[in-house]
Amino acid sequence: MLVKTILNRIEKHRGFVYASVRLEKRGGALELDVYILPRANSRARCSGCQRQGPGYDTLPPRRFEYVPLWGILVFFVYAMRRVQCDRCGVRVEVVPWGDGKCQLTTTYSWFLARWARRMSWAEVARSFRTSWQSVFRAVEKAVLWGREHQNLEGIASLGIDEIYWSRKEKYLTLVYQLDEGRRRLLWIGRERKAKTLLGFFRWFGKARSRAIRFVCSDMWRPYLSVVAKKAGAAIHVLDRFHVMSHMSKAIDKVRAQEVRKIKAAGGVPVLKDARWLLLKRPENLTAKQDVRLVDLLGHNLRSVRAYLLREDFQFFWQYVSPHWAGAFLDRWCTRVMRARIDPMKRVARMLRKHRGLLLNWFRARGTLSVGAVEGLNNKAKVVTKRAFGFRSYRVIEIALYHSLGRLPEPKFTHQFC
Ligand SMILES: [Zn+2]
Repeated sequence: MLVKTILNRIEKHRGFVYASVRLEKRGGALELDVYILPRANSRARCSGCQRQGPGYDTLPPRRFEYVPLWGILVFFVYAMRRVQCDRCGVRVEVVPWGDGKCQLTTTYSWFLARWARRMSWAEVARSFRTSWQSVFRAVEKAVLWGREHQNLEGIASLGIDEIYWSRKEKYLTLVYQLDEGRRRLLWIGRERKAKTLLGFFRWFGKARSRAIRFVCSDMWRPYLSVVAKKAGAAIHVLDRFHVMSHMSKAIDKVRAQEVRKIKAAGGVPVLKDARWLLLKRPENLTAKQDVRLVDLLGHNLRSVRAYLLREDFQFFWQYVSPHWAGAFLDRWCTRVMRARIDPMKRVARMLRKHRGLLLNWFRARGTLSVGAVEGLNNKAKVVTKRAFGFRSYRVIEIALYHSLGRLPEPKFTHQFC
């Protein structure tokens, strides 16, 4: 049958032959069984030590799921031999198309893992008529292989970020590589404590940590102290994304307080549905929102003043010299302290306290790509949302590494997808 010819072309295994192919109907669906036999006179390899040994006996045939063909499920059927190994005793043999524990062939496992990067795991399972568990296991295997074989040479810039993921543990700490052309997720840890980040540096190793030139993070105390201790040679930068999100949070707080105040006083609810008007950057507003914003800015509201202070701060990032940026920062902070808007004052105080790290932004410019942390953070949020419903740490961890880790894959004779 032609299927054999194709298989010999795309997946030939030394010491084994494709014997026959049978089309069966099971549970109303067609399935293709590909029978495999050991080549005559070939000796089985012991799964304990990988060495060839004399045969002991043969187990009943097992089915290994392979890549489906024309919507027909395909199985390799093979009766595994047992080896009488002088080192390990009686052991089952190793087969090159899969491992002893998994029902999926290695090829099919990689096939599923690849699709799982393009669509949700549930969709992959539905499309290829397999279970969600099989897809998860395939992805998990791909991640383990990829992390073992990834190249960690030449990493000069790191970004440390946190995302909210569960009510119980709240945060995950993510560490990214931010070098130009090589942006990827390197490491994930539970929570956002000093202990968490110490875990990263332990994994990353001393020599590599010493070679780090830039670290980009939020003004989160445990991160700051751990970076100072473990990557002392690096310039620590407070990145734009995190700084600006502190301001957005402050504006949101001011707005919420003011909405309550206006409502209590029975005033006109001008701030109704104004949340996104104030949080989005003006260039991202629609024409209709634009008109509303202009209207809103005409009111003397604390929310509007907070908004204008943030918009003014955007100029900070355009400076070239750290000196003049510093002068701008000082003036801005003074104005905010006089503005009597508490949430904004807290931001100003925080920026003053971290003035040095903030100005490092200008020293690192050109080497760190602007917006890289924000882009990765958004992707990570999408992944955690998509994994919703399977909220175990292991699932989130595997999903994030799989989508953002840029992990390598082994070389195959044939590209299935
Ligand atoms: Zn052995």
